[in-house]
Amino acid sequence: MTMTREQIRELAQFEDPKAGAVTFYFQPAAPRNKAHKEDAILLKDLAREALRGLEGHGGKDSARADVDRVLRRSGEFLSNGSHGKAVFACAAQNLWLEYDLPATLAGTQLCVGRQFHLKPVARLLGAFPRVGVVLVDRHRARIFDLRLGELTEREGLFQPLSRKGRSDGYAGYDGGHAQRRVNDEARQHFKAVAGVLKESLEKGLFEKWILGCQEVHHSQLEPQLHPYAAQALIGRFSADVAHITLGEIKANAQHLVELWQSERRRQLVSQVLSHARSSGKGVTGLRRVLHSLELGEVQTLLIGENFQAHAVECTACGHLDAHVVSQCPVCDKATQEVVDVAEAILPRVIRRDIETFYVKDDPEFDKVGNIAALLRFRSDNVQPIASGAAEQLEKAGKAYPGRLRRFASR
Ligand SMILES: [Zn+2]
Repeated sequence: MTMTREQIRELAQFEDPKAGAVTFYFQPAAPRNKAHKEDAILLKDLAREALRGLEGHGGKDSARADVDRVLRRSGEFLSNGSHGKAVFACAAQNLWLEYDLPATLAGTQLCVGRQFHLKPVARLLGAFPRVGVVLVDRHRARIFDLRLGELTEREGLFQPLSRKGRSDGYAGYDGGHAQRRVNDEARQHFKAVAGVLKESLEKGLFEKWILGCQEVHHSQLEPQLHPYAAQALIGRFSADVAHITLGEIKANAQHLVELWQSERRRQLVSQVLSHARSSGKGVTGLRRVLHSLELGEVQTLLIGENFQAHAVECTACGHLDAHVVSQCPVCDKATQEVVDVAEAILPRVIRRDIETFYVKDDPEFDKVGNIAALLRFRSDNVQPIASGAAEQLEKAGKAYPGRLRRFASR
């Protein structure tokens, strides 16, 4: 099974009060000598370590059963080791979920706790749009979904035009007419493809798309594209629809998504830095980011790949605070320490579908605290208007009153 954002959101809600939630990530080793054997040894070590940590633990029996089961399953993961894998399990609550992941995880990990460890999948999925891959030539079109390294062909989305006879049969006595007819057929075909694309984007089947075709067909499809379909195109590769293999399609598409992601990450970092300095539509540093998250202002979250910081979480209201205080500043109840605040904010980020990018080795970003956010609006600029009024105004197509500023980076 391939993971979706919706599934991650569900997992982010899961909690086992006895801390018997087991998370396992499997990253296959690079194919080299004895890698297989090393993996098996590593897995046993991880399991032993996890089990040792369970002593005096409420969910011990449940977690032990799951860790044993992970060990048994891992033999199979090892032998078809081209995929990454994720397992989310809690025997006490009768839960066992296995997912395929692209083999680009930071490493193999086994964790036990109250909640599932979601950082590795959030890293993969937080900034991974729903991508369609469209292959086209004069007569054919094939549409695929690319989800976390899995490519699936969409059947029945596109019905090829019925072609009557072979057009070149006319060439002997009416070459001109036949050519016009062929050109017209091709135009109709590309128009139909553009129509399917527009519809797929409108229905949210995909948010971005990639085109695989020959140059000559690109120039025929392009004028037919709806402006927002043209905008949602993130890259092109050269493809012969009849002969390209699934592996080739996947490799090309994956590469283009990565290029697009790193370009988008680069733009976002420079945007957040300049906004934080000038317009107030960006915030940097843990304290301000936590505050903006609680206000529901955050549109895009940027976190340093290795960002780690302590914080406290209120046991009553869930408030997160960068200051390690024993009493919640919001409701005065007791707090508990959070060892990795980047992990603690993830369920909230995932639940609200906030676009999340992990930033690697960026000295500028490092200087501002390795965590930052772009805001959709600043709530401290909102004038007190009755709730619902803003919505009604928006529906009526009128401008927002006062100084409420909206921000869209896309
Ligand atoms: Zn509180």
